[in-house]
Amino acid sequence: MTQPVDPNYLPADNRYESMPYIRSGRSGLKLPAISLGLWHNFGGIDPLENGRAMLHRAFDLGITHFDLANNYGPPPGSAEETFGAILRKDFAAHRHELVISTKAGYWMWNGPYGEWGSRKYLISSLDQSLRRMGLDYVDIFYHHRPDPETPLEETMGALDHVVRQGKALYAGISNYDAEQTREAVRILNDLGTPCLINQVKYSMFVRWPEEALLDTAQELGIGLIFFSPLAQGLLTDRYLDGIPEGSRASKPSGFLKKDQVTEENVNKARRLNDIARERGQSLAQMALAWVLRHPASTSALIGTSSVQQVEENAAAVEKLDFSADELQAIEDILAE
Ligand code: NDP
Repeated sequence: MTQPVDPNYLPADNRYESMPYIRSGRSGLKLPAISLGLWHNFGGIDPLENGRAMLHRAFDLGITHFDLANNYGPPPGSAEETFGAILRKDFAAHRHELVISTKAGYWMWNGPYGEWGSRKYLISSLDQSLRRMGLDYVDIFYHHRPDPETPLEETMGALDHVVRQGKALYAGISNYDAEQTREAVRILNDLGTPCLINQVKYSMFVRWPEEALLDTAQELGIGLIFFSPLAQGLLTDRYLDGIPEGSRASKPSGFLKKDQVTEENVNKARRLNDIARERGQSLAQMALAWVLRHPASTSALIGTSSVQQVEENAAAVEKLDFSADELQAIEDILAE
């Protein structure tokens, strides 16, 4: 559903009053506890005015961090174009208040230089991203996924290079496990461009970072930003009564497939929803508070398809703490 948009948008004066800002590791940069990603719903196939309305509301609620990648769309690149157009129209006077990130690592163009982790690919891709968004620099440039073939020194060297060029303020990695993170951090430290943050998938349904990464990140002094904290909508009330029209699982372009909306997942979500209600929250809000409970957490990186979802999710920060009994009740449901 397209949302009404204010063509003469001016950010709310009280935009910094409710959102907590959390330091990313031992860096100087703080990120909002809730950040907004543009993976879905900002592509060339999506209504621009809806994306515009969501960005306005997000910024009004203190969400200062917007996350992109070269390939977000569809088609690939179009989310950066949409974002650039909205940025020029509505946020031109506020660039210094925004943390904008992009990434390279997945397929972006044909041929040997259009994916993975070579210096050739990363630097070409960032130049293209900057052009699409109409920016001189991004705040964070990520290597999007580990490359088993390219020497890590080359990939991290490319991140160091773009930071020195001023095309990115900070370097980040994404989808790196604990050992890969340790190695990347060591190389970047040696180069003099410390790693700011690792962006990984984490939610009540996807818990691999608990094995080692949460503690490793804390030890190394880098931040962690968690993508798909709502398991693409499974950890909300979206699928409690079937797969609604217009939902991510209902769309051919969505990365959540119908067969991931299993009876087992939905049953767990129903029971988690009961705990959330007892806490006076929605399930989405509890799922966001849950990923933020570890001291290594910097931000929960959400996606949204409506202004209402932006508002609901930003309000998760009103109750972030859990009692030991609540955490145990959640564990019991997840373990079944
Ligand atoms: P989420 O787990 O937050 O899922 C977002 C989806 O959940 C929305 O599109 C919406 O689905 C549904 N939703 C959100 N809020 C609510 C609510 N309050 N009530 C009901 N449904 C809700 O995150 P994403 O999977 O979208 O990932 C977030 C961001 O993380 C991406 O935009 C991207 O920036 C980043 N990312 C990074 C990756 C990486 O490799 N580094 C990989 C994937 C994502 P619906 O459309 O059905 O309304």
